[in-house]
Amino acid sequence: MRFHILAAAAVLVASPALADGEVNIYTSRHYDTDESLYTDFTAATGIEVNRIDAGADELIERLKAEGEASPADIFITTDAGRMWRAEQAGVLGTVQSDVLDAAIPAHLRHPEGKWFGVSLRARIIFYDKERVAEPPQTYADLADPKYKGLICTRSSSNIYMLSLLASRIAHDGEEAAKAWAEGLKANLARDPQGGDTDQLRGIVSGECAIAVANTYYFARSLRKEVDGLTGSTDQIGWVFPDQEGAGAHVNVSAAAITAHSPNRDNAILFLEYLVSQGAQEYFANGNDEYPVVAGVAMSSSVQGLGEFKADKLGLEKLGEFQTRAQEIYNEVGYE
Ligand code: FE
Repeated sequence: MRFHILAAAAVLVASPALADGEVNIYTSRHYDTDESLYTDFTAATGIEVNRIDAGADELIERLKAEGEASPADIFITTDAGRMWRAEQAGVLGTVQSDVLDAAIPAHLRHPEGKWFGVSLRARIIFYDKERVAEPPQTYADLADPKYKGLICTRSSSNIYMLSLLASRIAHDGEEAAKAWAEGLKANLARDPQGGDTDQLRGIVSGECAIAVANTYYFARSLRKEVDGLTGSTDQIGWVFPDQEGAGAHVNVSAAAITAHSPNRDNAILFLEYLVSQGAQEYFANGNDEYPVVAGVAMSSSVQGLGEFKADKLGLEKLGEFQTRAQEIYNEVGYE
């Protein structure tokens, strides 16, 4: 694997004279460290990077409206469930790349090369160490009546909640997944509301004893000031669920080539650059995520969460079951 990444870097360094021009990126993900991500690529290849930042759904609509006339080469967003929406909208192209295939584990990229996971997050259980002596150890535990009135989550229409339930459907089947959603709803401390950080803030304020959130929201509060959270994190414990079973539910920030990319060669070079060691560090650290490429260093706040076993479910399944997941949430009245 390491050989291929080095080979990719060598290609980038060796070809600036051949590969100039530009690459146009539509991204719903932007962090300070992403600046270095783009300038390093330009320095290595001579290819200029133009970027448009907007929400994922807005960018998908824009790509659809622009059609063949779209200047976009690359689409970047978070959550494989959102990439599935882009795929359904017909705005993604396909890339076959030995570099990407060697660097990214198969379950973290689309089987036909429609999108590639470039950083990873886990959706895990956080809890108040003073109030919860025996925290849930599995996703199934979240539906156990002994946690009645203790759990906080965001709303069911959120993509993270849809992908989590889609993974339950993929593992346990629809009936079990529905019973789980019903049980979780019965255990809620309040109506679903806010973002993941708000669930963690709920532990600090005492409104929630248990919260479901993505790892990077917590890691971020260890690294920099997050209102209502930083300074109070000693009170919060966390569990990577299903460590004796399938492993913790993970998802990705992902990149894809667009269906009508006008600078296709440059776009492929950019995608391959994203799995180089330097780019992996920028990309993952920008959002306190895990790199997808083995052996790349993670930030100290992320490292502090400890090692865990990740679910190896193919993430394209999260899209496959997304519609059913929303139906199930609706059927059980999960707001
Ligand atoms: Fe997020």
